[in-house]
Amino acid sequence: MEAKNVWKDYTARQLKECEALNREYKEFLDAGKTERECVDVIISMAEEKGYVELSEKLKGRARLKKGDKVYAVNMNKSVTVFNIGSGPLSDGMNILGAHIDSPRMDVKSNPLYEDSSIAYLDTHYYGGVKKYQWVTIPLSLHGVIVKKDGTTVILDIGEDDDDPVFFVSDLLIHLASKQMEKKGSEVIEGEALDIIVGNRPLVVKGKKGDDGKEDKDPVKAMILKVLKDDYGVEEEDFLSAELEVVPAGKARDAGLDRSMILAYGQDDRVCAFTSLYAFLQCSDVKRTSCLILTDKEEIGSVGATGMTSLFFENTIAKLIDKEGTYSELKLRDCLANSCMLSSDVNAAYDPSYASSFDKRNASYMGGGMVFSKFTGSRGKSGSNDANAEYIAYLRKVLDDAKVSYQIAELGKVDIGGGGTIAYIMAKYGMNVIDAGVAVLNMHAPYEATSKADVYETMRGYVAFLNAPGM
Ligand code: MN
Ligand code: MN
Repeated sequence: MEAKNVWKDYTARQLKECEALNREYKEFLDAGKTERECVDVIISMAEEKGYVELSEKLKGRARLKKGDKVYAVNMNKSVTVFNIGSGPLSDGMNILGAHIDSPRMDVKSNPLYEDSSIAYLDTHYYGGVKKYQWVTIPLSLHGVIVKKDGTTVILDIGEDDDDPVFFVSDLLIHLASKQMEKKGSEVIEGEALDIIVGNRPLVVKGKKGDDGKEDKDPVKAMILKVLKDDYGVEEEDFLSAELEVVPAGKARDAGLDRSMILAYGQDDRVCAFTSLYAFLQCSDVKRTSCLILTDKEEIGSVGATGMTSLFFENTIAKLIDKEGTYSELKLRDCLANSCMLSSDVNAAYDPSYASSFDKRNASYMGGGMVFSKFTGSRGKSGSNDANAEYIAYLRKVLDDAKVSYQIAELGKVDIGGGGTIAYIMAKYGMNVIDAGVAVLNMHAPYEATSKADVYETMRGYVAFLNAPGM
């Protein structure tokens, strides 16, 4: 299959639609820099379209019926949305599933310390990162601190123009001759990824420490005072916090032609946004449609909010129960009869690193929606491998809707690899394939996508949701 550039065929109307969609996409990225923030945005967008929380629906007496629109939230970090169609749930659903967590640095549980008059927050990086990319760039701090009394303090520092930002230092080139000889994976060590948060000592007139000298850590004391005064939190409250350090700043147009978007977290929020947008657009569906926006994909989909959690299955069990009578078999049938697009990104072909890609089996920026039949590494190990019959079905669905797409692998054989949530869903016996947007410099603090691919992928998801299933 020859890769073509989809921009060439766009009409004036399509160019306008593409630009408008990408404007909304940038707003989505700016509003959702963590999974918790994404969940808030997703809920408000869904509620605007008439979706209600499943627990509210369950309270009522009415049975589940066509046109019902519900969502269920899991621990504020993942969300599943349903638009009920005409058949019983055991006939299966059309499922879109993306993840809303992205690589970043998480603040440790005992993070705050002072060294040589500099205050730091100690971090542990999350997901696959080239650590050297995260130094000397402006960083912001997002997340929650939950106090013992159950109240939650929300932090969002570093995004507004007059907010302070944070950073990780790096050694100046003049003294770096030894550092520059190290392997890329060791140039910046994981424990060196501590963010600098202050440099000014707290001065208390007339007050000295027990031994008559100044406070031992006056810069740290100043940070604690700011935290107390501005947010009402104590040092101990870090114990029950989830604070994420991410690149500061907004999503930007890239290129003189403004054809691309450069932004943090596009793996996988580009697919989360396009899936959500398509889902909310298809308000009247024949077949029940389901949208999964999950957490923890970047660390193996583990944990209560990851795709391997039973939350998804439990939610469907509740829906089937609300249909009339629940049975285990109906639940299994519903899952096995479903079709899914695992909405996740692929690595765009990079001419600067051509030797890492197989040109005939790579995805290209501007080439349209990308399908990955399989992922994995070293002989497809750990991969979902989508069924040929299913791919043929999808080809027809997309061709009929005139959506441009490409089919690609993630890089050359034996050069590395990756995984998505596809193999987890495949265990139910459903048809599932990875389908999403090609990303250049994936997992870097700033990742690049083509606006045309954002548009094509959204259109592809719409076509999929309206398809009859197989
Ligand atoms: Mn991903
Ligand atoms: Mn990833």
